[in-house]
Amino acid sequence: MYDSIDEAIKVKFAESQSILIVSHIRPDGDAVGSLLGLGLALIHQGKAVQMVLEDGLPDKYLPLSGSDLVRRTAQGEFDMSIVVDCSDIERTGSVLSNISKPDLNIDHHKTNLNFAALNLVEADSVATAATLAEHMPSWGLEIDCAVASCLLTGIIADTIGFRTSNISAQALRLSADLIDKGADLPKLYRQTLVSRSFEAIGFWGAGLNRLGRDGAIVWASLTLDDRRKIGYPDDDDADLINILAAIGDAKIAIIFVEHENGSVKVSWRAQAGIDVSGIALSFGGGGHAAAAGVDIQGDLTEVRDSVIQATKVLLAETFASKNNKILVEEEKGEHKYG
Ligand code: AMP
Ligand code: MN
Ligand code: MN
Repeated sequence: MYDSIDEAIKVKFAESQSILIVSHIRPDGDAVGSLLGLGLALIHQGKAVQMVLEDGLPDKYLPLSGSDLVRRTAQGEFDMSIVVDCSDIERTGSVLSNISKPDLNIDHHKTNLNFAALNLVEADSVATAATLAEHMPSWGLEIDCAVASCLLTGIIADTIGFRTSNISAQALRLSADLIDKGADLPKLYRQTLVSRSFEAIGFWGAGLNRLGRDGAIVWASLTLDDRRKIGYPDDDDADLINILAAIGDAKIAIIFVEHENGSVKVSWRAQAGIDVSGIALSFGGGGHAAAAGVDIQGDLTEVRDSVIQATKVLLAETFASKNNKILVEEEKGEHKYG
């Protein structure tokens, strides 16, 4: 056995010539940045690497080095398979249907199921790309300008530009190191978070027409009809959830996106002190305390109503337990809340 997971990973890399790397369906910037950053560094070491995203690469990430190498299916056999930024294996789609247990799982979701032979899961890391930036040097992998640009993209995406409640001095130090390697922060920031198509903004408008609120919970829905009428090409929410989460006195924001396969994608965003990962897990999804999601089969209105109801219960329980804590702490003379 090895002294550390880093040593075990390093040995596995040394033993492997052909390597498959996959990430999740509807890939975000962390999925893409982690896949490309790790993939490019391994290619630079002379490995034969296949980088696979079942849903392909969103256009906005085409400027990243290595984007032209990403495929939608895996071809042939591999010495090593790696899953990045996925809390469970189903999130990869059907890419790994021939592989029952991947060799390596690199992730930062607290709901991660540790489904691989080696599991590097850091729940306090802001992004899988941040975990990679920290560990890749100890695996003997070089972070050059191209790799650094991919990894910084992942960190920018998952921290929404360094402003999520889990942002840390260490994440900023890692990001500063990536900038030192040549990553262009303003360019990557604009590419990842700011720049939008005309259609995406129109899609926001359709969703905002259905803005709803119940106390501290706000939501909006995006229908297939909106998508068709506006000509929005992707099947995500165009990050409208981040606009809802900007509502100052809302504790939880939820977005519902209708899909062609009869499912509804639900995304939750919570303010600090509220954990929505458990509710996502209870519906079959996963995520982090502040950001979680799930795909639920069913009609948009029914899914919306049952999710809002369950979220109201979660919020009520969260406040009940906080109030209890205040009472206990008041008795102990250490009032922390309010
Ligand atoms: P999203 O709402 O898609 O932006 O995702 C927020 C967080 O929840 C991300 O960290 C995702 O990885 C996680 N997540 C979203 N959808 C799912 C799902 N269907 N299963 C597991 N985790 C999910
Ligand atoms: Mn992700
Ligand atoms: Mn991530």
